[in-house]
Amino acid sequence: MSDVSANFPSTPLPDMPQDAASSITDTLRRPLRDLRISVTDRCNLRCTYCMPRAAFDKDHAFLPRTELLSFEEIERLAKLFIQLGVQKIRLTGGEPLLRRCIEQLVEMLAGLRTTQGQPVEIAMTTNGVLLAEKAQALKDAGLSRITVSLDGLSDKTFRRISDSDVPVQAVLEGIAAAQRAGFATIKANMVVRRGVNDHEIMPMAEHFRNSGIVLRFIEYMDVGSSNGWRIDEVVTARQILEQIASHHAIRPSHPDYPGEVAERWRYADGSGEIGVIAAITRAFCHTCSRARLSTDGKLYTCLFAMQGADLRTPLRQGAPDQALAGLIAGHWRQRGDRYSQLRHAAAETATAAKIEMSYIGG
Ligand code: SAM
Ligand code: SF4
Ligand code: SF4
Repeated sequence: MSDVSANFPSTPLPDMPQDAASSITDTLRRPLRDLRISVTDRCNLRCTYCMPRAAFDKDHAFLPRTELLSFEEIERLAKLFIQLGVQKIRLTGGEPLLRRCIEQLVEMLAGLRTTQGQPVEIAMTTNGVLLAEKAQALKDAGLSRITVSLDGLSDKTFRRISDSDVPVQAVLEGIAAAQRAGFATIKANMVVRRGVNDHEIMPMAEHFRNSGIVLRFIEYMDVGSSNGWRIDEVVTARQILEQIASHHAIRPSHPDYPGEVAERWRYADGSGEIGVIAAITRAFCHTCSRARLSTDGKLYTCLFAMQGADLRTPLRQGAPDQALAGLIAGHWRQRGDRYSQLRHAAAETATAAKIEMSYIGG
C-alpha cells in the first residue's frame, strides 16, 4: 500500500502546547478549551425552535451513515484537539442518545488526558427521552456531566414545543435515572420563548428547587434559518431573574471556571442554584473558547458560522496527525467570530442562511 501520508508533507507543524497556558489562541486571544461534538443530525423530537417539522420532515435529507464520523475518527480528532488545548468535550447533536452504542464513544473519550495529565471532562446534552434506559451505562462509561433539556412541566406545553407525543414524565424519569446513576452534576436547560412557555418559568423553578439539579434558563437564539426567530419572542435573562426574585431571594454566585456561559445565582435560603444564559442580551463572545465538530467532520468556530473546515476528507485520505492538527490550529488561529456581539450591528449576517444547530451541535 502506498504511503498516503506523503500527500500531506508540507503542512507546517502547529506549536503543540506543553500546558494549558500555552494553548493556541485566536485573533481575539481566546484559547481553544472546549469541543462540542455533534454525533448525529437526527432527533426524536421536533422542537419548533430547533428542528421545526416543516423543515425537518420525512423528506429532509439527513446525513447518510457513511458521512458520519465513526467513533474511531472522532476519537482521533478529539486527541488532536486535546493536544491543542481542549479540556472539556461535550457530546451533542441532534439527539446524542440516538447514536447507536454512544456509551462506547464515551468510554473511548473518557480515557483521554489533557496536556497537563488531567482526565478530559466528558459531558453530554440530551433531550432525556432515552435517558432512563441509558443513564447507568453512560455513567459506567465515564461520562462526567449531563445536561437535560426540558422546556416545561406540563404535557401541553412540552408537546407544543417538542411537536411530539412524548410525555414530560419520560424526561423526568431520565433525570431521575441520572440521579440514581450517581452523576455529580446534572443540569436542566430551558429555552424560554415568549407566549410559548414563559408561563412555565416559575413551575420549573419550583420543581427543581431542593433537587440538587441546576436549572438554567436560555434566551431564545436566532440559530439556523428555519425557526423564524423574532426578537420579541426573547424573554431576557433579566426578566427571568426578576420573575424568580419576586418569589424567592436570589444571590449572584461566582462562575465555576473562566468562560462559563451561564451566569450563576443561588437561592438565599440554600435551596439550590439556577443559571441564565443570556446569549442575546449579554453576549459572551469575548470568552468563547468553544470549537464545534459537526456530524460529518467539519470544524466550526462559532454557533453562527456559515462555513466550516472539512477535517473528514483529509482524515479519510490518510493525513497524518501533524497535518490534521495543523489544519485545526490554523483554523482556530484565524478565528475572529463574535456573532452575538455583532448581532445588532450586522443585519446582513443576521438574515443570511445559517447552519442549523442540530447539525453543528448545540
Ligand atoms: N437534542 C439535545 C437536547 O435537546 O438537549 C442536544 C442538542 S440541542 C440542539 C442542544 C441545546 O440547544 C438544547 O438545550 C436546546 O434547547 C438548545 N437550543 C436549540 N435551539 C435553540 C435556540 N434557537 N435557542 C436557544 N437554545 C436552543
Ligand atoms: Fe432535538 Fe434537541 Fe433540537 Fe429539540 S433541541 S429538536 S431535542 S436537537
Ligand atoms: Fe461563541 Fe459565536 Fe456564540 Fe459568540 S456567537 S459566544 S463566538 S459561539
